Amino acid sequence: MARYTDSVCRLCRREGTKLFLKGDRCYGAKCAVTRRATPPGEHGQERARKMSEYGIQLREKQKVRRTYGMLEKQFRRTFDKAENMKGVTGDNLLSLLERRLDNVVYRLGFGNSRAQARQFILHGHISVNGKKVDVASYLVNVGDVIAIRERSYDVEQFKAMREGTGRIVPKWLTIDAANLSGTVAALPKKEDIDMSIEEHLIVELYSR
Ligand code: SF4
Repeated sequence: MARYTDSVCRLCRREGTKLFLKGDRCYGAKCAVTRRATPPGEHGQERARKMSEYGIQLREKQKVRRTYGMLEKQFRRTFDKAENMKGVTGDNLLSLLERRLDNVVYRLGFGNSRAQARQFILHGHISVNGKKVDVASYLVNVGDVIAIRERSYDVEQFKAMREGTGRIVPKWLTIDAANLSGTVAALPKKEDIDMSIEEHLIVELYSR
């Protein structure tokens, strides 16, 4: 599968905001956005030009897509799915993105970043309702129990990491830290997401 291999901090600098793609480093003084908030590349230092409407929509889409660590095709597929669901497309899109298994593992504090959570899933450390799931894009549903598999060789490491992240679990999930598991209590809504997203810009972009 194709994947992005360049420096992820460039992505944050390009979007001009922290996307929290690197775990602990994102919270410290070494964060590239904290040190140098200009866009990457040789023209990065130049004065920013006024962005067109299309540019604003594109940047919002890129910011969200990169935050969730998705490629354009996957992101577009998710948007198409959101469009075909009942309800408001923008709300549906945010809900679908939050319900991805890699995001849920990250939200539960079982990974320092979504990329690391994805790695744990691909390596078979995660179960949903007692069965191994190794698909990062798997969509969780209400009542699903997501857990670190007992056979996972580094359960203690997961416990230490969970304590270390100290991540506040959103209210649509409940955590059982002692048993390294979490349950989906409700479907996520926009207000549950700890990030400012103008999803209407993404809908407008794809509706052009
Ligand atoms: Fe983004 Fe984290 Fe890199 Fe900072 S350290 S630029 S938040 S990925």
